[in-house]
Amino acid sequence: RAAHYAKLKDLPAITRDGIAVRLMMNAGLLLDLQHLHECGADGIGLYRTELPFMARSSLPDVAAQTTLYNKILDQAAGKPVVFRTLDVGGDKVLPYWNPYEEDNPALGWRSIRITLDRPAVMRHQLRALIRAAAGRELSIMFPMVAEVAELVQARHLLDMEIAHEKGKGHVLPERIRVGTMLEVPALAFQMDSLLPLVDFVSIGSNDMAQFLFAVDRGNPRIADRYDPLSPAMLTFMRYVASKCDAAGVPLSVCGEMAGRPLEAMALLACGVRILSVSSPATSPVKTMIRSLSVGPVRDYLDHCLKLPDRSLRDRLRSFALDHHV
Ligand code: PEP
Ligand code: MG
Repeated sequence: RAAHYAKLKDLPAITRDGIAVRLMMNAGLLLDLQHLHECGADGIGLYRTELPFMARSSLPDVAAQTTLYNKILDQAAGKPVVFRTLDVGGDKVLPYWNPYEEDNPALGWRSIRITLDRPAVMRHQLRALIRAAAGRELSIMFPMVAEVAELVQARHLLDMEIAHEKGKGHVLPERIRVGTMLEVPALAFQMDSLLPLVDFVSIGSNDMAQFLFAVDRGNPRIADRYDPLSPAMLTFMRYVASKCDAAGVPLSVCGEMAGRPLEAMALLACGVRILSVSSPATSPVKTMIRSLSVGPVRDYLDHCLKLPDRSLRDRLRSFALDHHV
């Protein structure tokens, strides 16, 4: 198996029926970057910037952040890195930041809601990212966006930082790509106004499943009640994928779901073409991709999504076995 995986790293993530998939990796620590080249992922599809913030005893300043982001880009050695802005609150607590008691932290003051309310924190992070990416490509992604107006506000902060850096005569990134996470269902009902404003979209299936099913992602008592491999979730995925495809906006899925081969197969059948997974998941997912014909599973899924029962996982598993996926 180890030998198989070692060879796999240099083979393309392309299906039997010729569909090319971009297989990216999730990261959150500088340490993770060493896996990028070992596993042969096409880049970092989600860099969770909050992890270094959580590991320290105070908020890192612009210089400290610039140094870190610069190292990450150096180690990525030209492969793209999607930096997600600070995504704290909810299940991710910053120990040194005003503990704020909430009845429903997952629905509370978290993520972009914090960084839009505390724009200096967002601006410092954006400034550090712009500086770190001088002369290179920079991809920035905003988390927990619930409505387009929030993205517009975040973009405005980014534009202010670009102007600020320009004014200082600093070298700017060669290109800046701006994307949004889609992990709050409401945003999916604004696709037509959202898509012209972004360079890419990434579905965070962990939070998306939490909000679609109203099920706390950290509560073991209900963890098995709803399956992401369900008609509701996959109908949602298909809708978003068709909207992004029609608008020519790249769509990825970066939640845990993308890293499980059976779920990843279903995502490809829904039209998703970019997956960002944990580094250990890259090999099993690539193995699945290289043994899959998307056409038949797409047709089969068409039929399955109309079924009112909970048979989808078993059906897709049998389908995969029958078709040697
Ligand atoms: C997600 O919500 O699916 C996601 C990728 O972000 P996180 O798990 O960091 O909330
Ligand atoms: Mg999330």
